[in-house]
Amino acid sequence: MALLEVKDLQVRVEEREILHGLTLTVNEGQIHAIMGPNGSGKSTLSHVIAGKPGYEVTGGQILFKGEDLLEMAPEERAARGVFLAFQYPVEIPGVTTMNFLRTALNAQRKARGESELMVPDFLKKVREVSKSLNIPQDMLKRGVNVGFSGGEKKRNEVLQMALFEPSLCILDEMDSGLDIDALRIAADGVNALHSPKRAMVVITHYQRLLNYIVPDVVHVMSKGRVVKSGGKELALELEASGYTQFEDAA
Ligand code: ADP
Ligand code: MG
Ligand code: MG
Repeated sequence: MALLEVKDLQVRVEEREILHGLTLTVNEGQIHAIMGPNGSGKSTLSHVIAGKPGYEVTGGQILFKGEDLLEMAPEERAARGVFLAFQYPVEIPGVTTMNFLRTALNAQRKARGESELMVPDFLKKVREVSKSLNIPQDMLKRGVNVGFSGGEKKRNEVLQMALFEPSLCILDEMDSGLDIDALRIAADGVNALHSPKRAMVVITHYQRLLNYIVPDVVHVMSKGRVVKSGGKELALELEASGYTQFEDAA
């Protein structure tokens, strides 16, 4: 069974149709890249999957593990294994990264019907996970994303992703504004967390990220649809020829 099936999805934002019949299937454990010019609807798709308010689905379906995702509240989607890493992570002064992670993880465990993790168990888990991902412990004592470098913000997201144990991770332009070191940290994290049980959907405008994360499938979006899908070589073709060839296809 497919992990995620998006079928003929039509979405409106403020009375304007943004996605015009988008179809996409992701199987368990696959890495998919979604590429496309600015404004083609990549972020809209990721927001609709995560359940962000403000989007009106006017047609089509999204199935996750065979169930109707659009019927679920955003928290329920997260609890069932959908994780969306944001393009611009928010800063939360006054809340340590450690406390933020514990609150978020426990909210998710609760939604899954699991018991709350007590502080010592949580600390043990965080230590294990951060060690395996080479994340320095002192980062966890600082306010969430406050004064974090681009690389630290990415580490923080990768840590969240690891703790939540999602089965589908969507990374929306995680490479925007990153220098090459931060890009590597983010890509290494994604590669470390990818597994036969965990699929990754990597949204990017540039081919560069795909030098570090090798996708099984590459999709090109243009004007609210997937207009072409192929193997990893499609990303290289795009790098050479640009997106203009797809402008009329949509
Ligand atoms: P991408 O991520 O591929 O750059 P987006 O999904 O952000 O594309 O945007 C797709 C289109 O939807 C754009 O034309 C954008 O202007 C429009 N759009 C996105 N969000 C909103 C919004 N909240 N209100 C109005 N238009 C929006
Ligand atoms: Mg954009
Ligand atoms: Mg976007």
